[in-house]
Amino acid sequence: MADRWLIGQNVPWNAYWTAEDSYEVRNCRWASGMLAMWSPHKPGEGRPIFATPHMVRQRRSVAEYRCTVCGERTDWTDRWWFRLGSTDVPGWALVTTESPVHRACADLATKVCPHLRALGEGPVRFDHPDAVLRAIVGGAATDRDFGVQIAARNVIGHLKFAWRRTPASMQKGT
Ligand SMILES: [Zn+2]
Repeated sequence: MADRWLIGQNVPWNAYWTAEDSYEVRNCRWASGMLAMWSPHKPGEGRPIFATPHMVRQRRSVAEYRCTVCGERTDWTDRWWFRLGSTDVPGWALVTTESPVHRACADLATKVCPHLRALGEGPVRFDHPDAVLRAIVGGAATDRDFGVQIAARNVIGHLKFAWRRTPASMQKGT
């Protein structure tokens, strides 16, 4: 157990913190100003929640290709990911909510994150996606889980990168 949580070292930039764990529906600049699930921005307060990314930082990371580990922008010369995508979205070969990471950040994350170590695969090149999709949330379960009232509104949750064909470097088992 770490003595201290350090964002970008042993806590990813996009992780939720317990102080941020409340939700509202607001217009979001990272979703073209559309309505989206919103949480306060208080990274470093309370404890980190590793299992889920912060809604606003997640959208920002996709919109700006920010590294999920350190929060800085990536560019095409240094853009990697861990193949944490899904292949079951109709019309797309590959979809992911995971923003890319810098190579050095990927190596650091592999060292400190048991989940990534368990994958048993190193990072691969993050090929340019064909589209950015907006996941719409809603329904009784969302209202209950997040404590909001979405009703008939279109409200965005995560942003996702999508590829029509899975680039060779991003295929599993290659
Ligand atoms: Zn980074």
